[in-house]
Amino acid sequence: MNTSSSVSDRDIAHEVARRRTFGIISHPDAGKTTLTEKLLLFSGAIQLAGTVKARKSARHATSDWMDIEKQRGISVASSVMQFEYRDHVINLLDTPGHQDFSEDTYRVLTAVDTALMVIDAARGVEAQTIKLLDVCRMRHTPIITFMNKLDRETRDPLELLDEVESVLKIQCAPITWPIGMGKNFRGVYHLLRDEVMLFEAGSERADQEFEVISGIDNPRLAERFPQEMEQLKMEVELVHGASNSFDAEQFLAGTLTPVFFGSAINNFGVREILDALLDWAQPPGARDATIRTVAPAEKPFSGFVFKIQANMDPAHRDRIAFLRVCSGRFEKGMKLRHLRLQRDVRISSVVTFMASSREQVEEAYAGDIIGLPNHGNMQIGDSFSEGELLQFTGIPYFAPDLFRMVRIKNPLKLKQLHKGLQQLGEEGAVQVFKPLQGSDLILGAVGVLQFDVVASRLMNEYGVDAVFEGTSISSARWVTSEDKRMLAEFEKSLSHNLSHDAAGNLAYLATSAVNLRLTEERWPKLVFHTTREHA
Ligand code: GDP
Repeated sequence: MNTSSSVSDRDIAHEVARRRTFGIISHPDAGKTTLTEKLLLFSGAIQLAGTVKARKSARHATSDWMDIEKQRGISVASSVMQFEYRDHVINLLDTPGHQDFSEDTYRVLTAVDTALMVIDAARGVEAQTIKLLDVCRMRHTPIITFMNKLDRETRDPLELLDEVESVLKIQCAPITWPIGMGKNFRGVYHLLRDEVMLFEAGSERADQEFEVISGIDNPRLAERFPQEMEQLKMEVELVHGASNSFDAEQFLAGTLTPVFFGSAINNFGVREILDALLDWAQPPGARDATIRTVAPAEKPFSGFVFKIQANMDPAHRDRIAFLRVCSGRFEKGMKLRHLRLQRDVRISSVVTFMASSREQVEEAYAGDIIGLPNHGNMQIGDSFSEGELLQFTGIPYFAPDLFRMVRIKNPLKLKQLHKGLQQLGEEGAVQVFKPLQGSDLILGAVGVLQFDVVASRLMNEYGVDAVFEGTSISSARWVTSEDKRMLAEFEKSLSHNLSHDAAGNLAYLATSAVNLRLTEERWPKLVFHTTREHA
């Protein structure tokens, strides 16, 4: 049997170099599911188009969380999809959207190295994309952009680029340029390769070869598309003059995004994005821990938990903690140190996530995700190693946008309520705030489904019948200051707006954007944070 001592550093370095870990950011209906499916199709991970779609409709046929719950096996399987393409191992992490949009969606983005931004070219930049891009910006995550649905009437391509640049504050470097749109969509011109790829509708096959004609001045093109080529030449001149050219350094710094045009449903332009991911995006890099930076090819294993999925089997309070490997080589049956609990655990039934099913993992390297089954003793941000105290940083809690006041029907259940909320808070299911004044608890979330999940879990796991009521709170900020006296004064004068979160940090709960701004202006020596690190 292979043991970790027989693995050479070169093997680990080789495995790291061929890995890419990414997530998709998009607004609902932009085409994330369709694109995911086509990516898997290319890699041979699935044979038939429609597989991912079927899973999605199974999940979204209902908005009732308990029914979504019944599908939980499915949602775990599609949380992480690992597939191979061109001798690379690609981990695609799902960023839950639609009604299961939650803080998990944000946190998944802290575990990826690259993000693929999908924009519906008819609609342009939409609300959820803006939020998700903000999260990417925190870590300077490189972004690849796909303008989707060119087989429909879309907005003007130059206008779309302008919008991305002005709204999302990231420079655009178009790599392909569309020729026409909607019924007159002819294909795309590759600005770097100087070739035209001709559009054909309805491809369900991975091995589809689209006709490619090289050279924008090629007479064959002028013959077939006289009008379109005239127009294209004019546009290309404009694009060369007015937009940025691709720059690898700026891309990796997250300040410039290569932009591709295509149609996910027609499989058109999808291979180009996969190639960009392999050729331009980086393999897993170094990660910061409290005591030092950890390089991915270091021999000892390390990693951190960024998501916890509960109730795989409610009867057993069974949970899966999703851990991103940061270094070394994970092998089935290996003993790991759970740093917060200072306890060794032998992880025998770890799961990995092949695109088609949940499978037992044999080994994993930096960038891979492994699922650790547990009974509720793991928290968001927990780190695991082979002994060294490597507490990873950069796994934040995000300031919630939605708030509810919690009341219980039976006051005798108060203790269970606190216990349940403490645990759900640690799992990242919801955030819990205790106001400095009064005894009611306040819950904070970024997606409404989070409240349904919490109500249902409080009932099923802790026997607590809780009622959630609306509040006048509109946003939260964690408050810190070097000036302790000032902070004490702040606590005294604004105690009716202040709370402690589950970890005891001070948070300001604002009633409106104006209220928040005024408070920030009045207390210039205090820092108001939109995220907080795991304690
Ligand atoms: P998601 O919500 O981002 O996962 O979006 P879906 O992948 O479910 O797509 C939303 C809708 O747009 C579906 O009806 C898709 O069939 C459709 N769609 C996706 N890609 C394209 C495309 O390239 N062209 C057209 N016309 N429709 C598309």
